Amino acid sequence: ATEHEQYQEQTPGSAALAEDLGELVPAGVCSTYRAYDPYPVHAERATGTTIHDVDGNEYLDFALNNGTQLVGHTHPTLSEATKEQIDDGTLYTRPSDLIEFAAQPLLDRWEAIEQVRFTNSGTESVMHSMRLARAATGREKIIRMEGAYHGAHDPALVSKMPPLDEAGPADDPTPIRESRGIPESVPENILLAQYNDAASVERLLRAHEDEVAGILVEPACFNLGVVEPEDGFLHRLRELADEFGAVLIFDEVKTGAKIAPGGGAEYYGVQPDLVALAKAIGGGYPVGAFGGKRELMELVAADLEKGVATGAAHYGTYNGNPLSLRAVGVTLREILTDDAYDHVTELSERLADGYRDVMADADIDGYVVTVGSQGMVYFTDERVRTFRDWEHVDEELHEAYWFGMLNRGVIPHPHDASQQWTISVQHTTDEIDAHIDSFADLATHLS
Ligand code: PLP
Repeated sequence: ATEHEQYQEQTPGSAALAEDLGELVPAGVCSTYRAYDPYPVHAERATGTTIHDVDGNEYLDFALNNGTQLVGHTHPTLSEATKEQIDDGTLYTRPSDLIEFAAQPLLDRWEAIEQVRFTNSGTESVMHSMRLARAATGREKIIRMEGAYHGAHDPALVSKMPPLDEAGPADDPTPIRESRGIPESVPENILLAQYNDAASVERLLRAHEDEVAGILVEPACFNLGVVEPEDGFLHRLRELADEFGAVLIFDEVKTGAKIAPGGGAEYYGVQPDLVALAKAIGGGYPVGAFGGKRELMELVAADLEKGVATGAAHYGTYNGNPLSLRAVGVTLREILTDDAYDHVTELSERLADGYRDVMADADIDGYVVTVGSQGMVYFTDERVRTFRDWEHVDEELHEAYWFGMLNRGVIPHPHDASQQWTISVQHTTDEIDAHIDSFADLATHLS
């Protein structure tokens, strides 16, 4: 049987539920990314490092909700604190000292963050960072990297991951709207550069002098697997932003508090002007944040003067809700300690070494990358350094690998080759070794 067929044999309950739910919500899911062929694993519960599905199967979870839960599921310290918070109220829409509880650790971790505001998602954090960059510069264009994901809002969906045969030349990519309903005018203010190619950014800045509000980039590109910045790339972006008066925005939704306490800025030693955060900072509660230099963030405080906007608007009923703030403070202060980062980094390296050994033994082409708690296996010997290198990735083999791992009780990472594994503070050496053993068992079928 193929891995797909075996998966279907093991998951009849998921199949039935998928069909029922498909009647109620499009594709049976609440975020379109979650739908995949033939149907997703339908969860009953998630505890510790395990997903329990509706068929009674258990999976060691290294996807951890698109890398959100560096704390793992149901972390006792976090669960206890948030249960207590539920009894004290989940929504105040008025300030409390929980703001200090959640904000201070972010200021402590990021040199660039002198002030911060809370949002409810990564999408909102990036959206507000872009608005703020535009408000501060009085310019409209944002440079972003082709093939990167920055959330579900309109401008973030320009050339997120366009079909390579429609994307035009690498040095002059065709902007592609990745959804119906995105106005034709949206790409006018989005300029596409290539990750790891500072010259492509410089060309755009020179061609659009005095028009570029911001440069938006993930410090390590985590929607092409794990693509690290080459030496000097981020430093050069810092210099270019300064030279051309553009705001350097790091989208640290996936890297923040994950690859180091202070994210990619700390790990790679480059401080942006603004940082967009979400995911790991909240330990699985819906929360995001954007922060940066005081002179920029103060623009958020300014608002309307006689009907004229003098600042950058930031509103939201659920912004900074006490439940999420409690989760952020507990996660960053009590769970993600220096020891915790050592633990996840060590285990991620152990896993990467295990993959390398198995691939060498089974003669499988590919390479493995790990950064902090994150890592990924690529089934190609051609190193991915920009979006255009994606053509080398064997997505079909990756699909067989992914389902093969599922069938052996491991969710190795979120579904598809553009993602990465996350090691949580709750994973153990034995669980890493079980992951490697499952891959060793599968590898003989893949090669
Ligand atoms: N930015 C990056 C780099 C992301 O990976 C994501 C989500 O995966 C987002 C932004 C959007 O975050 P959210 O899904 O919380 O809106």
